[in-house]
Amino acid sequence: MIQLYIPLNFLGVIYREIKQSLADMERLFHLLDENREIADAVQAPPLLTGGAQVRFAHVDFSYESKRQILFDVDFTIAAGTTTAVVGHSGSGKSTLSRLLFRFYDINNGRITIDGQDLRDITQASLRQAIGIVPQDTVLFNDSIEYNIAYGKPGASKAEIVAVAKAAHIHDFIESLPDGYDSMVGERGLKLSGGEKQRVAIARTLLKNPALLIFDEATSALDSKSEQAIQAQLKEIAKDRTTLVIAHRLSTIADAAQILVLDHGRIIERGTHLQLLAADGAYAQMWQRQQAHPEEVEGPSPGIDGG
Ligand code: ATP
Repeated sequence: MIQLYIPLNFLGVIYREIKQSLADMERLFHLLDENREIADAVQAPPLLTGGAQVRFAHVDFSYESKRQILFDVDFTIAAGTTTAVVGHSGSGKSTLSRLLFRFYDINNGRITIDGQDLRDITQASLRQAIGIVPQDTVLFNDSIEYNIAYGKPGASKAEIVAVAKAAHIHDFIESLPDGYDSMVGERGLKLSGGEKQRVAIARTLLKNPALLIFDEATSALDSKSEQAIQAQLKEIAKDRTTLVIAHRLSTIADAAQILVLDHGRIIERGTHLQLLAADGAYAQMWQRQQAHPEEVEGPSPGIDGG
């Protein structure tokens, strides 16, 4: 027993170290804004954003040549509006956001922002234009102030405090013994899921991006935090082009457009009311979630045997 315990414990330490180095790598990646796989076109100009209309035109995509992930995905997010994507786990929702960042190039079709093909502009300007509130925010092993300021290098303390207030995290930060200097992350203070999302919201407010991606957490926060965060996100998304990767349909009922993705194809699209009236896959998901509010869109029962 003891013999088994020691190596497992050791593995735990290594795992934490690896996770840590990934967090640091992400920081490095963003700071250098370097992606070894994808190169900017020679003399590529920066992205010029107006209203940030997003267009996926007949996009086919595969991570590996043998397995296609997206099939003829075609949609437009009108400038300043919110589009939500729903679908079973593995249907390709997060892939859309990775492609918007141009972490990968597509096989066929075009992705444009305000008419500019992502392959024709610099990746640095593209990533500058997009803000993301991820499912699980990575906090760097640094002060909470650094973690917020990361949204806009060189931001003043007054700007940081203003966005922390807007994200309703300021009072919490002030209650910590070291205030804004409190160390967070793996080696510092562990924040709750809701607190981490608020830090991400503050970061995003500071960045003030033309385009916002919100990757909704699959595990719900307690309902009070959830509602507060939803309200804040609505506020940031207002009049800003937004892509929501949604798991709880109740959070996206007022999106201008909802796309239902199934095995990499858009099988339905419309507003919440239009999709309910169509009485198809979305309406079924909606009825299921109404009956079991704790359930989110997980693996497809029929296909994955779950
Ligand atoms: P979830 O709701 O569980 O987050 P999703 O709809 O966002 O799922 P994606 O993450 O877009 O799904 O993944 C779509 C498919 O692409 C999945 O089958 C997944 O296994 C595959 N995939 C994702 N990332 C990679 C990768 N880096 N290399 C190869 N395949 C990948």
